[in-house]
Amino acid sequence: MLTIGTCRLCGAGPLGLRRCGVCRRVVVLCDECDAAWPTADTGVRPTYSIEGDMPCPGCRASLVSDGSGWATRDEALEASWDIPMDGLREVPANDPAPPLRGN
Ligand SMILES: [Zn+2]
Ligand SMILES: [Zn+2]
Repeated sequence: MLTIGTCRLCGAGPLGLRRCGVCRRVVVLCDECDAAWPTADTGVRPTYSIEGDMPCPGCRASLVSDGSGWATRDEALEASWDIPMDGLREVPANDPAPPLRGN
């Protein structure tokens, strides 16, 4: 996955670029503590996972539902906010998807 840096909340997790399967927005999601932000501005209040689900900071749909996933470099380029492409790093993902219910 592509990361823009380290989460300042948990101090350990990489801030990954996550693509919402519903609104197609690219958001920032900590791979460790699951805090999510609508842009790279992590000074604002994050969205947290609730009961194993992760609501999209843009539309509240699940960031672990079908169609969502870690954003590619192309998707990052098309994001609605200014992603610091120079600062992007590729790191192994600790996939946040919880076990799907009814599966
Ligand atoms: Zn974190
Ligand atoms: Zn969304």
